[in-house]
Amino acid sequence: MKIIAGNWKMNGNPSELAEMLQGLGALDTENRVILCVPYTMLRAGNNIVMLGSQNVSKYDSGAHTGDISAKMVSKSGATVTLVGHSECRTELHDTNADVAERAARALENDLLPIICVGETAPERDAGLTEKIVETGVRESVPKNAANGGFIIAYEPRWAIGAGITPTYDQIQQVHNLIRKTLDEMGFADTPILYGASVTEQNAAEIMSIKNVDGVLVGGASLKKETFVPIINSVK
Ligand code: PEP
Repeated sequence: MKIIAGNWKMNGNPSELAEMLQGLGALDTENRVILCVPYTMLRAGNNIVMLGSQNVSKYDSGAHTGDISAKMVSKSGATVTLVGHSECRTELHDTNADVAERAARALENDLLPIICVGETAPERDAGLTEKIVETGVRESVPKNAANGGFIIAYEPRWAIGAGITPTYDQIQQVHNLIRKTLDEMGFADTPILYGASVTEQNAAEIMSIKNVDGVLVGGASLKKETFVPIINSVK
């Protein structure tokens, strides 16, 4: 069983989501499928798909115009949220501490957080990948997290939407580091996803790498024609 999570970013509309849910609901798969969609489309999922948001507020409620709380997401029927996605770290200037607060609110409201970590191109070029990733995991997982109660997604930020991926050896090396770090933190049962430029062509091979428990898919999750083959590429 693998976890296949899609991230629609700022794309799609309710009728496209309804069509996607109908298509995915008919799949015969043991994999866990998640779709993180814009807030305006949040609702309960179906027998195959868990629906989630792409972020939640650090705050519970109050004077935070434009923000959406974890409680609001939870009340919509959705059960998952991304936190710390590269685009939020860039555009909202989220630090690891901010991400941990968002993840804490998610857990308090019964949402499964997918906590994203990864290095930028300058960090990679400076040889800092392992340091950034390990620190990202240690600092972005909140204090109220339980073993197996959240997911880590490793997303090399330079590869997102770029049509390129690290070598499989590099993915393995980083996932081994994350697994070791999670073990040391007492979170041995936490799944680790790989994300960035996953396609139907590379999904099965990426998911065959040790310590890769699934994938987080952006562009290729938008259409059934490209998402379903990724889900069906592994048992
Ligand atoms: C993402 O946005 O999380 C992502 C992995 O995007 P893409 O698959 O398009 O690189």
